[in-house]
Amino acid sequence: MPANAGPSEGLRFLFASTGQDQDNDEGGTEMIIVMRTGAAQEEIDEVKQAVAEEGLETYVMVGQERIVMGVVGVGVERVTHLETMPGVEQMIRVSKPYKLASNEHHPDRTSVRVGDVEIGAGAPVAVIAGPCAVESREQVLATARWVKREGATLMRGGAFKPRSSPYAFQGLGVEGLKLLAEAGAEVGLPVVSEITDPGDVETFDEYVDMLQVGARNMQNFVLLKAVGQSKKPVLLKRGLSSTIDELLMAAEYVLSAGNPNVILCERGIRTFETSTRNTLDLSAVPVIQERTHLPIIVDPSHGTGHRPLVRPMAVAGAAVGADGIIIEVHPDPPTARSDSEQSLSFPEFGDLMDDLRRHEYLRQPTAPHAQVHIEPPVERARLRARIDDVDSRIAALIDERAELSVAVQQTRESGDHGHDVGRERELIEKAAHGPEGVLTPEEREMVFGAILRVSRSAQRRSAASDAAVAGSVNAKTAEATANGVGQ
Ligand code: PEP
Ligand code: MN
Repeated sequence: MPANAGPSEGLRFLFASTGQDQDNDEGGTEMIIVMRTGAAQEEIDEVKQAVAEEGLETYVMVGQERIVMGVVGVGVERVTHLETMPGVEQMIRVSKPYKLASNEHHPDRTSVRVGDVEIGAGAPVAVIAGPCAVESREQVLATARWVKREGATLMRGGAFKPRSSPYAFQGLGVEGLKLLAEAGAEVGLPVVSEITDPGDVETFDEYVDMLQVGARNMQNFVLLKAVGQSKKPVLLKRGLSSTIDELLMAAEYVLSAGNPNVILCERGIRTFETSTRNTLDLSAVPVIQERTHLPIIVDPSHGTGHRPLVRPMAVAGAAVGADGIIIEVHPDPPTARSDSEQSLSFPEFGDLMDDLRRHEYLRQPTAPHAQVHIEPPVERARLRARIDDVDSRIAALIDERAELSVAVQQTRESGDHGHDVGRERELIEKAAHGPEGVLTPEEREMVFGAILRVSRSAQRRSAASDAAVAGSVNAKTAEATANGVGQ
């Protein structure tokens, strides 16, 4: 390779080796010099000079935040002593072709901050929810309000839609980004949207908190380098027919272009199976966690393509250890202008959130054992009788509580599903930190979380049956009108 190779040639050697259909470049370099943020030009030049004195070549990649140099040639270990040079942060000897994405020299998991939400590294499972495509102000605002009250942590919405057909709805473009930003700001959720054109990075930086690179663009290297220049995090979806290593190489493009904030997404791959839109490869989650430090989320909407499959596969994604879930939600799925079949209605999203919360409780580490003090004499039969008595009182109280919450629901406007996430948190908090007993705060949280969930299920059922009654009354009225009765 010529010594003055530009950044793109410089990148190519990084990605040489491995993979069935990968470029078969020569090179085999295995040393990366990571310069400190703000390293001076003289420091960079001195490092390059020192490498040249060892008879080796450097390829410089200039990112928004830092400069990374690759060292190529036979015997790259000769430059390890340069680690002490001014401006050098780290020398990385890597055997993996994805050098910055690999956890080989980065044992701690990375947490990526999107707006004020942390994703990865043990943070609670992030839930990104919203429509496939932004269609109108009303649609995106109603969805934002709903997903926020259900406890979503981020909002999604496509403005530039990469559709299989040129005749299908292509999205509202910049107008869509503005509507999404407005809705996110109104409810206080960071927003993510898909970028398809490398020239749009600045516009996206203005309106969104995270840039999504879609499955179809996973190997659009020009786009990857462009989002690598963004200051915002990148959500990188796995290509329809890409291997996990290819996904990691795609991430490497973004990282080596200077953007350290990448979140990966498993969204299903194309297989011989036709019962689902794609085959959601959940084993990718632990495989990716074994190979990289980057967060990984799961998209069961595109992964399955069918509404009834979204909830179980979302729970499965969380169960397998994903750092987040991304879900398509629409106020009226049958009328959605894209991905109608896989979009969840508001109540369906509520049910999914209930399941995820339940699952989160299971995922929490086991609480420390509580000390149980029982005064002697211990008469087992009498103790059990008291337990039975307490249990029946608890059952009655839980029922009473649910009845009260249904009554609260009935004071609300119809269609307003109602539960208030803020109040729920307060209640759980209060229960967790009540007078001390044998239960730990975590255990009380678990119990109260479950009690609140069943109250909410009862509310939802009651709202659904009210809606069904209203629907049948309307249908009867319409029928009567059509038959000329009652006119
Ligand atoms: C999307 O999330 O809207 C999307 C188009 O997903 P994918 O790129 O995974 O198909
Ligand atoms: Mn979609």
